[in-house]
Amino acid sequence: MNDILPDQSPVWQYLESTVAQVLRNYGYHEIRMPIVEQTDLFKRSIGEVTDIVEKEMYTFEDRNGDSLTLRPEGTAGCVRAGEEHGLLFNQTRKLWYTGPMFRHERPQKGRYRQFHQIGVECFGMSGPDIDAELLTLTARLWKVLGLAPHVRLEINSIGTSEARKAYRQALVDYLSAYTEQLDEDSRRRMESNPLRILDSKVPETQAILQGAPDLVDFLDAESIEHFEGLKRRLELAGIEYTVNSRLVRGLDYYGKTVFEWVTDSLGAQGTVCAGGRYDGLVEQLGGKPTPAVGFAMGIERLVLMLETLELVPESVSGDADLYVMGMGEAGESEALKVSEALRESLADRVIVLHCGGGSFKSQMKKADRSGARYALIIGDNEVSEQAVSLKPLRSDEEQRTVAQSGLADELAALLQ
Ligand code: ATP
Ligand code: MG
Repeated sequence: MNDILPDQSPVWQYLESTVAQVLRNYGYHEIRMPIVEQTDLFKRSIGEVTDIVEKEMYTFEDRNGDSLTLRPEGTAGCVRAGEEHGLLFNQTRKLWYTGPMFRHERPQKGRYRQFHQIGVECFGMSGPDIDAELLTLTARLWKVLGLAPHVRLEINSIGTSEARKAYRQALVDYLSAYTEQLDEDSRRRMESNPLRILDSKVPETQAILQGAPDLVDFLDAESIEHFEGLKRRLELAGIEYTVNSRLVRGLDYYGKTVFEWVTDSLGAQGTVCAGGRYDGLVEQLGGKPTPAVGFAMGIERLVLMLETLELVPESVSGDADLYVMGMGEAGESEALKVSEALRESLADRVIVLHCGGGSFKSQMKKADRSGARYALIIGDNEVSEQAVSLKPLRSDEEQRTVAQSGLADELAALLQ
């Protein structure tokens, strides 16, 4: 679990606000759910025989003896909230949320125990039009962030549960000849959840899977039509994709469309956004049958990409624009007054008022470290002249005196 320190948070804010803006532009509405839910909710939705439920959840008993879990993902809580507040029945919803998720995994680059996701969930729409919208929306986001050349889209259809049942049998028949060579997790999954073996990250298991039957050959007509509809729309929208017939998702509730946006610039943890359709989940959790589709993206991995690829705009920093220093008692009071006046007219500028005293020299050092372009120095002389001394910190220009009356206009022009 990481601390996000002051020098990192501007990149986080930049990413989060950019995503929020794109989602707003598409007419999606934010929902905020609690970070803990009943343990049972995750068992019933994600599935008992998944990595998450088997070994990754932070589960504890609260003072009432109820079993609670720090949310490992947002979809289950979003469905729970939607049901509880009557947001889902007989209507359509386009929702998003962001926040920390918790999984007890082996920490490594791009994989942490507290990590952050931005998730999007759409309810009440069964056709491929909304699947396509989710992908065009993410594609636009990559474009806005400058990430588009560095990510690629993989899609697949995993069909209805009947289609998966038939495929499951074929997969088990094929794999039973290789039981000895499979990794331990996969061997266990032969009984419980064989489709998850496709998702294995063990190279030997992946090699065995090369010859396995293909899920696409087992798809039902409706899923095929849905998938064709999605592909057609992606082509219309000019979104490139590849069909990866081995793509299944690690959670039980998915059916039909599944997808991942993948990058090569992060090493092993290359999935930055993943999701799919989960038409059965709302009903499974006690609601009326409600088609649904969604995705989640990992903020840490996207931040890492923006930094590694040097795509963070220069304007994104914790730097000050102006550093205001008052010398002596009168100067200090005047500095407060001047700062507040400037904040009225330069509302989007970062104006740091020096607090905490110290010598002129140490104040200048702090002004320099703040990243500000100008220091505004106010001593007794400036107070009596109703002026400030304006000292450029990033150029060789001379310090000069500017009347307070014209100061805001002058600074606005200088900081352009
Ligand atoms: P992976 O295959 O990498 O384990 P996943 O299938 O478990 O991913 P999802 O549950 O679909 O991941 O979560 C969506 C996204 O959230 C992932 O694509 C990734 O970007 C991010 N993510 C998932 N788990 C972690 C983690 N432990 N640390 C950081 N980011 C994560
Ligand atoms: Mg995982």
